[in-house]
Amino acid sequence: MRTIQLRNHKSGQLYDLRLDTLPAAQFVPDAHATQGIEVELPLRHADTLAPAPGDVVSSLFGAEEWRSEEAAANTCEIKTGPYRKLGELLAEYRARACWLLDWAEQHGLLIVPLAAEPLELLTEVSSYGFIPKIADAKYGAAVLARSYADCTQLNIHVADGDALLALFRGLVRLAPILAGMFASSPFAGAKPAGVQSFRHVVRRGLANGGDPEVLPKTVRWEEYIVSHQALTVLGPWFPALFALNGMIRLRPDRMCVELGVTDIIADPCHLAGYLALCRRLAYRILLHYRDSESLPDWFGPDDPAIQDAAFRSAMLSAVRLGADGLCCTQSMKAMRMADAFSELVRWVKESPVPDDPSLPFDSALPGLIDLIDHGAPAQRLLKQFYELHPTCSDPRPGCPSCRIAVIEVCRHLSAEFATQMRKSPG
Ligand SMILES: [Zn+2]
Repeated sequence: MRTIQLRNHKSGQLYDLRLDTLPAAQFVPDAHATQGIEVELPLRHADTLAPAPGDVVSSLFGAEEWRSEEAAANTCEIKTGPYRKLGELLAEYRARACWLLDWAEQHGLLIVPLAAEPLELLTEVSSYGFIPKIADAKYGAAVLARSYADCTQLNIHVADGDALLALFRGLVRLAPILAGMFASSPFAGAKPAGVQSFRHVVRRGLANGGDPEVLPKTVRWEEYIVSHQALTVLGPWFPALFALNGMIRLRPDRMCVELGVTDIIADPCHLAGYLALCRRLAYRILLHYRDSESLPDWFGPDDPAIQDAAFRSAMLSAVRLGADGLCCTQSMKAMRMADAFSELVRWVKESPVPDDPSLPFDSALPGLIDLIDHGAPAQRLLKQFYELHPTCSDPRPGCPSCRIAVIEVCRHLSAEFATQMRKSPG
């Protein structure tokens, strides 16, 4: 067995990585591959909704693993273990979220599960971890403050390197659709931001804007890893690039794809739908890889020459219009996000993957259909906002009533999140 030594970009630890892969035809996709989630949850003062003080939030870190090195000082992160059974993964997430809700309540705080700061731009930075180090060295705290944007990250593990690359390539093509359907950060500066995912707008201000790597179709695992190793040894900019640009990225040290393209998924039905969808989706992409079949047209372009441009324009549309945004098919036709998503749901439903009894697909389906029928969560938040504040005296800078309405919507979202999380599953 041939291996190569790589260095973890955060800890600096060295690890051995396997270079040998199976020929595609011999690869057997794992129907119950392990998945884990990381959800960044921002805490706010119950009265003012100002970001919770960093020292109060860090006092948590002695008791539990709530560290969130890549997020704002008022943000906690729930990381679940890797699970084969998605029902167990959801149960762990729910238990930890409920613990955090109780803790927050005792400290006069709320969880407002929006993916970007809705009221003011944050200036307080987390005082530990590797991002502040990079920020000091490379970007400066002002740029760092803009990078604060939270997501629900799903890690999907595949043990074979070439298969992992194939999964990454497939998921990159769908990333804008997922971003549009799960957009949930429509406010900034205490008024509507004019977009449905302000988090992705924030990201655009950084380096290459969070766009994923474009890999040549022919690249093999060994070649990819050798180039990865070369980048890793080149210096401190690699971890910066890696951390700030990765809305979807490969993690060779964990043999997983990190899918961080969605805003925070606050509704447990949407989260269950997302997990069940991605499990079946990953399996089906890997079946196509094994059988050397191309993926359906609505996956979007797989030609590296146009992939980047197609990705960017679809992302822009997803950011502005959510589920009503337009993506680009492989045959270069425009398609509404919700229609492509609907095809995707149908495609994974037909996937010949054994059902996961801990989270049967039929029980996760209503969360997905809800998104197709009613649009991204951001659209509902905006609807609430305009019901509370039908006319604005000064929409460009935002009026004092904008602020009151945004706070009201945030409170409602926070209460709804707490209620749904505390409901016993099923
Ligand atoms: Zn207003």
